[in-house]
Amino acid sequence: MSIEIDYERLRREMVRRQIASRGIRDEALLEAMARVRREGYIPSWLGEFAYEDSPLPIEEEQTISQPYIVATMIDALKIGRSSRVLEVGTGSGYAAAVLAELASEVYTIERHASMAQAAHDRLRRDGYHNVHVQHGDGSLGWPENSPYDAIVVAAGGPRIPETLKRQLKVGGRLVMPVGKEPGLQQLVRVVRTHEDRWTSEDLGAVRFVPLVGEQGWREEPTSAPAPRPAPVDEDARTAIMRRCEPFVDHDSADLQPLLRRIGDARVVLVGESTHGTSEFYRLRARLTRELVEKHGFTIVALEADWPDVARIDRHARDLRVPDEAWEAFALFPTWMWRNEETREFVEWLRDRNLGLPAERRARLAGLDLYAMSNSIAALLGFLDRRDPAAATLARERYACLTPWQRDPAAYGRAAVTGAYRSCEGEATAMLRELMRKRLDQARRVDERWFDAEQNAHLVADAELYYRVMYYGGADAWNLRDRHMHRTLLRLLEFHGPAAKAVVWAHNLHLGDASATDMAARGETNLGELCRAHHGRDCYAIGLGTHHGTVAAASHWDGPVEFKRVRPALEGSWERLCHETRTPGFFLPLRGEEDDPLRRALERPRLQRAIGVVYRPETERHSHYFHADLPRQFDEWIWIDQTSAVTPLPTRERDGVLETWPSGL
Ligand code: SAM
Repeated sequence: MSIEIDYERLRREMVRRQIASRGIRDEALLEAMARVRREGYIPSWLGEFAYEDSPLPIEEEQTISQPYIVATMIDALKIGRSSRVLEVGTGSGYAAAVLAELASEVYTIERHASMAQAAHDRLRRDGYHNVHVQHGDGSLGWPENSPYDAIVVAAGGPRIPETLKRQLKVGGRLVMPVGKEPGLQQLVRVVRTHEDRWTSEDLGAVRFVPLVGEQGWREEPTSAPAPRPAPVDEDARTAIMRRCEPFVDHDSADLQPLLRRIGDARVVLVGESTHGTSEFYRLRARLTRELVEKHGFTIVALEADWPDVARIDRHARDLRVPDEAWEAFALFPTWMWRNEETREFVEWLRDRNLGLPAERRARLAGLDLYAMSNSIAALLGFLDRRDPAAATLARERYACLTPWQRDPAAYGRAAVTGAYRSCEGEATAMLRELMRKRLDQARRVDERWFDAEQNAHLVADAELYYRVMYYGGADAWNLRDRHMHRTLLRLLEFHGPAAKAVVWAHNLHLGDASATDMAARGETNLGELCRAHHGRDCYAIGLGTHHGTVAAASHWDGPVEFKRVRPALEGSWERLCHETRTPGFFLPLRGEEDDPLRRALERPRLQRAIGVVYRPETERHSHYFHADLPRQFDEWIWIDQTSAVTPLPTRERDGVLETWPSGL
């Protein structure tokens, strides 16, 4: 099914949200950005991402820059109607088109001949006759047409080439990413003030592909060491088949060898490569039941929000605690936890718990931080009952966030752009207040106070998260995973030195980030943080599949759909596992460096990650990343064919969904 995309609306939104709101005021530039059809400068299969706040891949492993960066560079060039501009690094031709909207003549050079030709054709197609494209080494400039009023270099070099500085008019501006390491630069603006004098200023950190040429890097540098010669896949497949423990049915697969490998680990991380696969939920529920019944695990922590899971936990432990008037798991993506598979596990836990004294019952807990408004509601409800004076104070403090409770992302944007004040002070003051109140010994061991304090932590971290999220990039992801890790540590501490936890979350959170592409983006995750903290006391398990069906939405906030999972791509871990022709297996990966299995698998391969959104049409770009599997996980569980979870019926009531589990 093809979806009609309203590019014009996306383009206007992009200019407003990504550029104007970040402080770029030049009307002519904003209008130029609103006119150029970015979708015409990227591969057609990436069309739906044309106005994302990010760079995108184009031909020859190059990138089209993030719209905001294009705007920032052009803004710094101060281009007028009569300007002559030189661009080094034509790439797709997109930035040249924006420049052509503003300047009199644009000269642009690209070192890849095929890209120069393609950009030329696109620019002519769109009617830009004042752009001249040349194939060649732009680090030497284009002396025949110099001097220029402005020069922009769209690739990162070790220094500003002298030749380029000399092709500027006196008074002319040059903007270029400069850095000692390829892939990480500072954006620098140089102004030629006299015949032999230039000033220079730093405009902030950026990440560009390298400038390759006589005045740039000598050859395409790589930040990663050259990969070792790859063992042929045949070896990898044979090594897996030799070492794996196969099973036919995950419901009856023998878990004992895996439990022996887990041994005395205090934290067991059980991942999943989608958020909507029935077999993953059921297998990890089976494993968790064993861990709870026979291995002393008393905490089951989910990639879900603290206050939502607290409601389900009350049911699972039969805690008689008053509930507030809001709904758990009522927001997108409801099916992720509100499903038959999870309910079965919760009901099993409740039945087991009912036969035990309160202190021996196993609990559920949520590690995530999206539910700012539910945490505020839960905290106020608790304080109303236990400390009315503190409740009054909390209402005053959280009033700052109240207008934004339905759309915290809008709060982040408003706070960052200065349209609304930041509520950081209030959120952290309330957390400090709660922590101070819990210094009292009786409260330190009181679970309701512990619960209240976790809600205050969530509000403080979420307040920061929504502001940081506005800028995109690694910081928001890291903040979320660090919050999850700290919550897990606080849970373990609260329940005492003997407490052990199982965590259920996506592979992306639980497999060690340093063994994947995430590391190059500066991202860490819960798995990496747990390993660093607990060492071999943490056992990380990843789950993967080749094909089947999955419950997922087509876009954020969309309805749940049952989608077909495409057969895995050539060159992926999933394809390799599929080629073993085994319906399912456990693959222990924790071995010494010279273990033949590790050696056979040492080459990073693609790995698929399907979240709550699945876009099969753009699967390679949207869902695959590189991972070094034996470093990422201690164990890999394979289920070749899988099916979607069964979401519980949800009934709209006054605009919100019915409480789950039913009967609460
Ligand atoms: N401005 C481009 C756009 O709008 O799509 C994005 C440019 S991309 C980040 C950098 C480009 O610089 C790549 O296409 C790369 O091939 C090119 N490049 C690198 N070194 C070059 C050089 N010495 N001369 C010309 N082009 C070069």
